[in-house]
Amino acid sequence: MNHTVVVIGGGYGGSLVAKELDSEADVTLIDPREAFVNAAASLRALTRPDWAHNAFFSFATLLQQGRVIRDRAVSVDPKGVTLASGERVEADYLVLATGSDYTYPAKPHHASTSIDQQLDDLRETHRELAGTDRVLILGAGPVGLELAGEIKDVWPDKYVVILDRAGRLLPGFLPEVRNELRRQLDELGIDVRLGTGLTVLPTVEAGRAGRFAVTTDKGEQIVADTWFQAFGVKINTGYLADGRLSPLTAQKTVPVTERLNVQGYDHVYAIGDIVALPDPKMASYSMVHADLVVKNIKAQLAGDRPHAVHTPTPERRILLPLGTRAGVGQLPTPDGVAAATTETVRQRKGADLFTARFASRFGRS
Ligand SMILES: Cc1cc2nc3c(=O)[nH]c(=O)nc-3n(C[C@H](O)[C@H](O)[C@H](O)COP(=O)(O)OP(=O)(O)OC[C@H]3O[C@@H](n4cnc5c(N)ncnc54)[C@H](O)[C@@H]3O)c2cc1C
Repeated sequence: MNHTVVVIGGGYGGSLVAKELDSEADVTLIDPREAFVNAAASLRALTRPDWAHNAFFSFATLLQQGRVIRDRAVSVDPKGVTLASGERVEADYLVLATGSDYTYPAKPHHASTSIDQQLDDLRETHRELAGTDRVLILGAGPVGLELAGEIKDVWPDKYVVILDRAGRLLPGFLPEVRNELRRQLDELGIDVRLGTGLTVLPTVEAGRAGRFAVTTDKGEQIVADTWFQAFGVKINTGYLADGRLSPLTAQKTVPVTERLNVQGYDHVYAIGDIVALPDPKMASYSMVHADLVVKNIKAQLAGDRPHAVHTPTPERRILLPLGTRAGVGQLPTPDGVAAATTETVRQRKGADLFTARFASRFGRS
């Protein structure tokens, strides 16, 4: 009889593990969503409704043999998982890959919404945004910057202002990358105000149209017609809080070994944003973790000892498009990290926001 592998969460890492082990074991993927959400594409999905469907990939086409259960894990123990419906799924191998939530529109409003509902939400926010002249974005991290770039790409004449309490853009990245980012933002006419925050949020709901004025903590007044929140990652490990598997860290992340096992269990793994590793919380690292776990589970299925180990990297990498034409990046090279050209950023991310890669994973032609 085949061994069972249960993957909890079908994001960047979990969907890869499920796909790669589909022919090797009885795979069950558990996720409340109807589709994988390519978060990297969600900001363009907001500004270009005709393109928005590209951000979603139905789980129905991911696996040839395995099954997908559309439900949420509420508790995990060494033998298996209990779902919100009350259903119990036993597992020989468990992979925890429940990632993180982020404020809409960067990630969906509600975990269990259908593709149609998510597209409706984006169309509605697009309608509100289209009618505005002045947009305020709170947070100048990659999400806030990319959102500003997508808005300017479609509506070059809109005034876009970004506030962030941090004093520097992309701290920890090369000075040439940060300087080039500043130059491109200036060229696009995006008003970035660093070391500046709000003491009170706008009275209008985020993503809704309606003129408002806010005063920054520096005493400047900003008038805008809509605003978006671009900060606040929330790690999805609430279903582990009962401690039936393993205690969480103070940051609510999952401690793992160098083989990415949840500490204390050779048959339970954790990957992606939920793990307590110094790796940045990024899809690219989640997929590195996924590849490693696939190797280790394949070895175990073959009766061998799992031997692949993960070494977290101190190197910071990023591809940060500002719409379809502009953007900056930093990538690893044999001599350490280096700035990427705008053309590289465009080709590797800005042009299609990884749509082709996930079309291939999900068997979409
Ligand atoms: C706008 C935006 C752009 C980004 N761009 C990039 C980029 O260009 N490059 C990059 O490397 N990173 C990027 N990131 C970061 C990246 O999205 C995250 O690091 C990544 O999503 C983490 O992947 P993951 O595999 O850990 O889980 P996720 O992709 O977060 O997926 C988790 C899955 O688990 C499911 N889930 C949650 N709770 C449960 C539960 N209790 N039971 C069952 N299922 C559950 C969710 O529904 C979801 O499908 C971006 C993020 C945002 C918001």
